[in-house]
Amino acid sequence: MFMLKQLSRFLAAALSVISFTNAAPPGATPLAPPGPVKSVAPQVPAEWKAGTATLQVTPQKLLWMAGYAARKKPAEGKVQELFAKALALEDSTGGKLVFVTLDLIGVPQALRHEIARRAQQDYGLKPERLVLNASHTHSGPSLRSAPLTAEEENNPRAKDAWDYTQKLQSDLISLIGSALTDLKPARLTWNKARCGFAMNRRKDYTLPPDHPNANKVPNPNGPVDHEVPALRVETPDGALRAVMFGYACHNTSLGFYNWCGDYAGFAQEYLQEHRKDFTALFLMGCGGDQNPYPRRSDVVPGVTDLELSMHHGRSLANAVEMALTVNPIAIRGPIRAAYEEITLSYAKAGRPEHAYPVQVIKLGPDLTFVTLGSEVVVDYSLRFKKELAGEAGIWVAGYSNDYTGYIPSLRIQKEGGYEAAAGWAEDVEERIVDTVHKLHQSLK
Ligand SMILES: [Zn+2]
Repeated sequence: MFMLKQLSRFLAAALSVISFTNAAPPGATPLAPPGPVKSVAPQVPAEWKAGTATLQVTPQKLLWMAGYAARKKPAEGKVQELFAKALALEDSTGGKLVFVTLDLIGVPQALRHEIARRAQQDYGLKPERLVLNASHTHSGPSLRSAPLTAEEENNPRAKDAWDYTQKLQSDLISLIGSALTDLKPARLTWNKARCGFAMNRRKDYTLPPDHPNANKVPNPNGPVDHEVPALRVETPDGALRAVMFGYACHNTSLGFYNWCGDYAGFAQEYLQEHRKDFTALFLMGCGGDQNPYPRRSDVVPGVTDLELSMHHGRSLANAVEMALTVNPIAIRGPIRAAYEEITLSYAKAGRPEHAYPVQVIKLGPDLTFVTLGSEVVVDYSLRFKKELAGEAGIWVAGYSNDYTGYIPSLRIQKEGGYEAAAGWAEDVEERIVDTVHKLHQSLK
């Protein structure tokens, strides 16, 4: 018996040494060497040009963090770098389009305006052909786009946020230039998969108030958008060069004091991990009323928030891998784009109106992007996918070109609750929807 125990201990130790020194576990089939580069859709002509650029935007100082009002101190460290990435596309007629994605809380409108102005001046890129989108990570720095008052000049918290945002602005202009300089022949395809960790975080207002589940969140019966659209960029010989993917969910698995891209940052990292010369970009969807679940380690014994964030990142990356390979749909040109800032008002008299950005971009007859400013709830995404359904796939992004709080649907405004608290006038959804249809029509 004693001998047997010793032998098994020896074997276990030997096995752990073997598994430590080899990538594959003992007895497993050895890992296959990487296969030859092969297009997933060789029949699709490589009639585009694409360029990418990546810039690390992790603050050099431990600034105050964005997203949670309850924060009592600045950041204390870093778990993951934060990035700004750009994807430039050029169709066969020379028409261009640039997406900039950010591992940051939002896109302040002043930043959007200045970057769009400079991109037009320096690179001839029209404002309607520029999308700035933020992942809404709550583990990034607070941004500050309003100039400092005389008093704030001596307030390090305000000054640091302003300095960071000013530098970000000039860096993003250069980033756009780098992506445009990088334009090379490319084949574009797209498809979508599904990922299920986003759940509606509002209570179930359809239940009578005395129902035992009426006040419980999250609400598994509430609306969600689990689609993961992925735009695949290949070289003409089929090497994967970039993917831009979307998901509609708050990027809030984490509430700690470290810089991190949260689940969207991990999904991008995992996709890039084993690929050379490849860029993964995350385009945030209409996740205003969606949270990642399970959320927070206090509900999952023995698992940390960071592990939950990584799990969500892994499931999203897996969905993207599937969207990248299954039944690719060709994307043809040309690029057509329209952008308008419409006036949204608040219910309360005297409050200034807001210029709200609405953008529609068509990649030929195959894929249509609708991008909307700020924290858009999922109803918009579901509504546009239904109302604009046709030959082209519909990809709806929120958190684009503006960051001014929640954009509720009329349903949510009537129900009330957190996402309705901004107090917009009741015609907000109608105005946005009318404008999207008008712009979409104008591009036909
Ligand atoms: Zn939010």
